[in-house]
Amino acid sequence: IQDQWQLNPLELKLEKKLGSGQFGLVMGGTWRDKKVAVKMIKEGAMSEAEFKEEAKVMTKLSHSKLVQLYGVVTQRSPMCMVFEFMEQGALLDYLKNKRGTFSPNTLLEMCLDVCDGMNYLEMSNYLHRDLAARNCLVSKDNVVKVADFGMARFVLDNDYTISPGSKFPVRWSALEVIKYGRYTSKSDVWAFGVLMWEVFSEGHLPYENLNNTQVVHSIDRGQRLSKPNLAPEDVHVLMKWCWKDNPEDRPTFGQLLHQLGSIANVFY
Ligand code: ADP
Repeated sequence: IQDQWQLNPLELKLEKKLGSGQFGLVMGGTWRDKKVAVKMIKEGAMSEAEFKEEAKVMTKLSHSKLVQLYGVVTQRSPMCMVFEFMEQGALLDYLKNKRGTFSPNTLLEMCLDVCDGMNYLEMSNYLHRDLAARNCLVSKDNVVKVADFGMARFVLDNDYTISPGSKFPVRWSALEVIKYGRYTSKSDVWAFGVLMWEVFSEGHLPYENLNNTQVVHSIDRGQRLSKPNLAPEDVHVLMKWCWKDNPEDRPTFGQLLHQLGSIANVFY
């Protein structure tokens, strides 16, 4: 008898390469007649023992705005993670490729999708730790879903995981994360504010003309990202709420969902 999150490799068919990321190759394929994306974990990229335990928890997280993890294959090498297939790929690429075609309302809907998924994670007491447009995906009917939640803990590359590593996501990190590695749902909220900025700037790099060191100094001095042209004033007000110095002064995802919903006239 198999554990539910452990998939039978014989039921998995790999077809073509979709991309590559932090952990290695990502392949498109099918699992039990469902289209799936399969992350093949390259040797030495992940702390595997800890991950196996966590995979069990991650497969139980299930929400329409989260990219579903169907299960993992761990009994043979390379280890694989099997995800819901997202036809339109990463949100960041989608924003850049279709720049100039979005209405402010469409952009707001994207933020609402992500906020809805993050509200579910917050209610489940689960931290994302690396929320950014590059870690969200777009479905065939333009629904944006949150991916890669919790995965940052299993990356073995210290450049990526430890501030001030060269690949550390400084531009998305709250000051208490950069300084003390203090991750909470309020640091996810900070990152969500930056994600809203990425969405409304149609995929521009936050603090484009600053290097990582300058970004830290700038936010330490209290400077914040300015309003993207396409963003309504009240959305920029929400962004700045996400970037309050004191984590306790920032909103919850529940509050953000309510506020974004009333801006969009969609009631949650
Ligand atoms: P990693 O987490 O290893 O860094 P990514 O999540 O960045 O890998 O995935 C690399 C690329 O693979 C993405 O940019 C995207 O194009 C593709 N991809 C990843 N997951 C999916 C998915 N669920 N559906 C479709 N394409 C995906």
